[in-house]
Amino acid sequence: MTKLLFATNNPHKLGEIRSMLGSRFTVLSLQDIGFSGEIPEDRPTLEENASKKAFFLFRRCGCDCFADDTGLEVEALDGEPGVFSARYAGEGKNADDNTAKLLQKMAEIKNRQARFRTVISLIFDGEEFQFEGVVNGEIIDEKRGTGGFGYDPVFMPEGSELTFAEMQLVEKNKISHRGRALEKMVEFLLRRA
Ligand code: IMP
Repeated sequence: MTKLLFATNNPHKLGEIRSMLGSRFTVLSLQDIGFSGEIPEDRPTLEENASKKAFFLFRRCGCDCFADDTGLEVEALDGEPGVFSARYAGEGKNADDNTAKLLQKMAEIKNRQARFRTVISLIFDGEEFQFEGVVNGEIIDEKRGTGGFGYDPVFMPEGSELTFAEMQLVEKNKISHRGRALEKMVEFLLRRA
């Protein structure tokens, strides 16, 4: 079984990823290797942040590992919050604050088009590979649903009448930005393994 270290301690993400990879891969978290620090996401793009985190981990463990970075990109806000999605309402604020800020900024805006974009950086056999996943959708006016995390209650993917927060995890994973990026990584790993 292939072991992969994932640069996260986010239980939602770990759950999503483990349920997608099934029994073919063992995914270890930062906690599993006893790392309790933060890896700063201070670069100007998702690609650079993912890369920075993956190489940070690789330098520590020397093992196959991957890191992701995701942004919600809203068309009418010129791609905001983008790389700042996690701290849109400021340092120390939470997902509710970020979502409230987004809804408030969009209060008068008719164009609700948005997309989630994930970049995964995988270090495999000492070499870096990147995978991108995108899901298009729209920002609704009010929060709906209690599942998921982050901006899920206000994001309705194209072709659906449910927000991500109203979907079952397995349904979200099939079409989500991270799901799509992961699928590409899994295809790659299966070809190389
Ligand atoms: P990260 O790079 O995966 O940590 O994502 C940065 C921020 O984007 C998170 O703090 C969330 O606010 C948001 N985000 C990432 N993935 C999702 C998702 O699947 N649903 C909703 N929000 C997300």
